[in-house]
Amino acid sequence: MPRRLIALEGNTQRLDGGAMFGNCPRALWERWIAPDDRHRIPLACRGLLVDEGDRLVLFETGVGAFFEPKLRDRYGVVEDRHVLLDSLAAHGLSHEDVQVAVLSHLHFDHAGGLLTPYRDGAQPELLFPRARFVVGRRAWERARAPHPRDRASFIPELPELLERSGRLEIVDGERAESLGPGYRFFVSDGHTPGMLVSEIDTGRGPLVFAADLIPGRPWTHLPITMGYDRFAERVIDEKRELLDDLHARRGALFFTHDATTPFARPARDERGRFQAVPVDAGGFGG
Ligand SMILES: [Zn+2]
Repeated sequence: MPRRLIALEGNTQRLDGGAMFGNCPRALWERWIAPDDRHRIPLACRGLLVDEGDRLVLFETGVGAFFEPKLRDRYGVVEDRHVLLDSLAAHGLSHEDVQVAVLSHLHFDHAGGLLTPYRDGAQPELLFPRARFVVGRRAWERARAPHPRDRASFIPELPELLERSGRLEIVDGERAESLGPGYRFFVSDGHTPGMLVSEIDTGRGPLVFAADLIPGRPWTHLPITMGYDRFAERVIDEKRELLDDLHARRGALFFTHDATTPFARPARDERGRFQAVPVDAGGFGG
């Protein structure tokens, strides 16, 4: 049975454009994404839902609504409701229906949506009561013992909640037992240690959930990296390897952070540089 792919919009964020574009000069990046009067650019935090007919697999949960008001403002999260839950409801679904949730890494803008929305005086609780949670080994270890440079990107309570659920699968290789055939991982270390970049066999060609290796269309161009990346040159080498392979196999990319484009196909321009051409959910492969 072909797998139905649904881009699930989550809470949106506004982050400093200079930090998002690393060493790329503003004169260049502001032609791609216009900053607001606080120098911030709009970013999506969307998930990808794979409907297999008899099972729902969710890739990431976005930032969600767990932040207290002060931190919500600091990190530019626009909405105070949990938008991804609304997006599931718009498809007649609930977080309780999801059987597997794959988390590329545990930075809050990818995993915060696992938690209940903020309520004054209440502790956050884990949503997705039936899902198995898939996390890469080194991404898990990093979340439990962050580095001073990325400590603010993690949710201190989250690892214990995941562990206590009894439904956590920590992955060492390129496959997860909870997912079974038709899914495999490319493990990336440039952005954060052990990030899982998932490849989904859609029945119409491979689709790669690019996570923070390629957060949106402008970052498909190889030299463009983020200030948040741990090793920018490693990111570029990993992107080249991934894009060469995916382009040769006529695959597609899924962007979690691109404000307007969830699905795109890698292509080369007349000078051989990689770019991403938007396609709809059915418009790749073959
Ligand atoms: Zn990240």
